[in-house]
Amino acid sequence: MNLKVGDILRKLMALGTLATINQRLDTDTAILLANEFGFEAKLSSLYEEEDIKEDSAQDDKANLQPRSPIVTIMGHVDHGKTSLLDAIRHSNVIAGEAGGITQHIGAYRVKTSTGEITFLDTPGHEAFTAMRSRGAQATDIVILVVSAADGVMPQTIEAINHAKAANVPIIVAVNKIDLPTANPERIRQEISNYGLLPEEWGGDTIMVDISAKQKLNIDSLLELVQLKAEMMELKANPNKNAEGIVIEAKLDMRRGAVATVLVQSGTLHVGDNLVVGTTYGKVRAMIDEYGKRFDKAIPSVPVEILGLNETPQAGDKFIVLDHESQVREIANARKEKAKADALRPKQHVSLMDLNAGKAKHLKIVLKTDVQGSLGALCDALERMSNSEINLEIIHKGAGSITESDVVLAAASDALIVGFNIRPDATVEKLAENEGVSINVYRIIYDLIADIKAAMEGLLDPDTQEKITGKAVVKQVFKLSSAGTVAGCTVTEGKAQRNVKVRLLRDNVIIFEGNTSAIKRFKDDVKEVEKGYECGISLENFSDIKVSDVMEFFTVEKIARKLVSEN
Ligand code: GDP
Repeated sequence: MNLKVGDILRKLMALGTLATINQRLDTDTAILLANEFGFEAKLSSLYEEEDIKEDSAQDDKANLQPRSPIVTIMGHVDHGKTSLLDAIRHSNVIAGEAGGITQHIGAYRVKTSTGEITFLDTPGHEAFTAMRSRGAQATDIVILVVSAADGVMPQTIEAINHAKAANVPIIVAVNKIDLPTANPERIRQEISNYGLLPEEWGGDTIMVDISAKQKLNIDSLLELVQLKAEMMELKANPNKNAEGIVIEAKLDMRRGAVATVLVQSGTLHVGDNLVVGTTYGKVRAMIDEYGKRFDKAIPSVPVEILGLNETPQAGDKFIVLDHESQVREIANARKEKAKADALRPKQHVSLMDLNAGKAKHLKIVLKTDVQGSLGALCDALERMSNSEINLEIIHKGAGSITESDVVLAAASDALIVGFNIRPDATVEKLAENEGVSINVYRIIYDLIADIKAAMEGLLDPDTQEKITGKAVVKQVFKLSSAGTVAGCTVTEGKAQRNVKVRLLRDNVIIFEGNTSAIKRFKDDVKEVEKGYECGISLENFSDIKVSDVMEFFTVEKIARKLVSEN
């Protein structure tokens, strides 16, 4: 159009778009802009996400063929996940690959008498749910490893709830049965308390006793996985352009961007053009977990691919398209969109959605200070479900709010409710980034009342807390004159007399109230800055211990805003 950049930007501004010189405009705006300058714009080509959606439309049943199951191993730390992955890897390498596995690519296949199984190499529910929070689900079956000597532990329960939230069936591998203290019956009993009733007791959960260390019963476990897979009738259409997800990706000095992808449908070939998240490229080479190069990969097969322009992220989806220009345009468009999205805060469900009638099914991750309050709250919350709004507690536990809780909430669009606990700074930051709402309460009644009010659409103006300072207790003195005085170092912000204070021990709230004095040397002071030491005593509270954290905060009432939809 032979116009000056400044003129275009000014016109855009007049049209209500604040644009920068290298910003991509959407088609409508571009056409409108051209019109404004007296030009007529014709659309010559446009590759959009819609093209992709058409491509990945539902497959005709007739085109579907059976595919191998994809399995993730989960369980409490030290119960034997890694040992099991190794035992499987070494006892069942694919025939003809007797040299064994030469490289780690993030997944591997094993052969059984009835076919192959693909194992994802990163055990644990954190990686599984992190992928899911990015919209990717790779796993068909979860093997839950429980040590027969130790029994069900907190991460065992987390793993169960993460798998359940994703609707993935669980096979329980009762491990370490070689140990004299092993008690597999007790494990069955314990695990049945979490909704997994063993088949031999009339339930539908497959449980098998194994020893990863002595490689006992590994074959039966694999057979049972195959059996489960057959019942699930896992199928995909291999005769179309490939689609799937990234399991791992890295930048290799020699080979450039390297990504391990799992083909979920279609067949991937060397030479295919693909878009992977915000990256794109042409498959230059495909390498399997045995280091062997080959030129096509069918569904459920993991392969390392070379040829992408940049390193994608684990959990990114990939799709093959016919033209190089298509994948480039879509990847670039996504990149622009990702940049714009990064500026917009993410937002998962909050109590306000309930208030506004947006959420009809509210998922909750519930964490409390002690087991006792957990049971009581759970009952109370579950009783609140009514015909209009269904409350579901997808995970509960005693203990602080963890990063794994936030990731689960993000993946499941749940909100986190905490009782008598607070998230620590890292968890709080993660929740903020992920747009997960954390609601913490000190009084059961408040918690119930808030959720009830939200359900009735009557939420009061929000109170917003602002942390103004933190101090760590270094020493505790008992003085006959002044009671208990905590010698503290201020670590963040300021310690202040005229604001509220709470005392945290391992992120559990022990006390909330006021200070009775803050002293620098002998003098009473109003405030002490970060980096300085001071003596702090609390009003009507003396049970202070070394390493406790004092959190200073103000509470403001703000009118609740409706969260924006995006
Ligand atoms: P992970 O943290 O779940 O990956 O557990 P690991 O696989 O690292 O195993 C933790 C410990 O348990 C290691 O010392 C293993 O040698 C041991 N272990 C794993 N499986 C068995 C088993 O079947 N029997 C016995 N006795 N020890 C096992």
